[in-house]
Amino acid sequence: MEKGGRASYEWQRRIVRRLGAVRAVALFTLVSTVVSLAITAVAMTLDGIEDPFLGYIIAIIVPVVLTPPITGMQFALIERLDEAERALHRLARTDELTGLPNRRALMEAGEGMLRHPRTGRRTMALLFVDVDHFKHINDTHGHVVGDQVLRHLARRIDGGLRETDLLCRFGGEEFAALLPDTDEQTAAEVAERLRHTAAATPVRAREEEGPAIPVTLSLGLAAAHAESVDDIHGLIDRADRAVYAAKDAGRDTVVPLSAIREGA
Ligand code: GH3
Ligand code: MG
Ligand code: MG
Repeated sequence: MEKGGRASYEWQRRIVRRLGAVRAVALFTLVSTVVSLAITAVAMTLDGIEDPFLGYIIAIIVPVVLTPPITGMQFALIERLDEAERALHRLARTDELTGLPNRRALMEAGEGMLRHPRTGRRTMALLFVDVDHFKHINDTHGHVVGDQVLRHLARRIDGGLRETDLLCRFGGEEFAALLPDTDEQTAAEVAERLRHTAAATPVRAREEEGPAIPVTLSLGLAAAHAESVDDIHGLIDRADRAVYAAKDAGRDTVVPLSAIREGA
C-alpha cells in the first residue's frame, strides 16, 4: 500500500476500532451530508439560485444513499482484517503442541518488563527447564506418547507457577519461565518444587497402557536486577548455562547460575 493509502487506511481503522463499523458508517454519512449541504449552499448562493429547495434535497439524498454501501463494505473489511491480524498475532506467539506461549512471546514479555520495570522490587528470574533423556522417552514409547508427555508437563509446570509468571515452550523438550519480582533464592525454591513434583509423579499418557512414564527435569536459573540486564537474551543465556551445569551434575537437579560462578 502506498504511504498516502496507508495513512488513510490507518485513520479509518482507528475510527472503526473506536466506534465499530455500524456507527462509523453513520458518522461518515453524517459528515458527507454536512459537507454536501455546505458545498451546495455555497454553489447556489454564488449562482444566485432563488429557490434552493430541490438543490438541498439532492445534496442530502446523494450522500445518504451512496455513503452507507461504500463505507459499509470498506469498514466491514477493516473489521475482518483487524480480527485476522489479532488471530495471526496470537498464533505467532502460541506453541501449537502445548498451547503455551512460545519463545517469541517470552522474549517480547521479557523486553517489555525490562523497558518498564515496576517500582519496588525490580528483580526478575528466568527459569530454564529441560526434560531429561526425552529422546529415550520418544524411542521407547513413540512420538505420539512423547507429545502427550510434553503437553502433560506443560500443564503441570504451569500449574506450579504464579499467575504473573510466564511459562513458554522454548523449543523441543525445553521450557522457560519468566518470573517477575523474583530473586534467585525464591526462583530456586520454585524450581526445586517443580523438579520434585515431576520426579515424584510419573506421567500417564493417554495412548499408553501399563505403568506411568517416569520423567525427570533439569532446571537452570538466573536472576538479575532489571537495571543490570541489557536485554532478555543475556538472562536466557545465563539460565541456559545453568541448565548445562545441571546436566553435567547428573540431571534431575536445579542449578542456580550463582552456584556455577561460586564453583568456578
Ligand atoms: P538430555 O537429558 O541431555 O536433555 O537428553 P534429551 O534426550 O532430552 O535431549 P536431546 O536434545 O538429545 O533430545 C531431545 C529430544 O526431544 C529429541 C527430539 O526428537 C525430541 N523432541 C523435540 N521436540 C519434540 C516434540 O515436539 N515432540 C516429541 N515427541 N519429541 C520432541
Ligand atoms: Mg534439550
Ligand atoms: Mg532434554
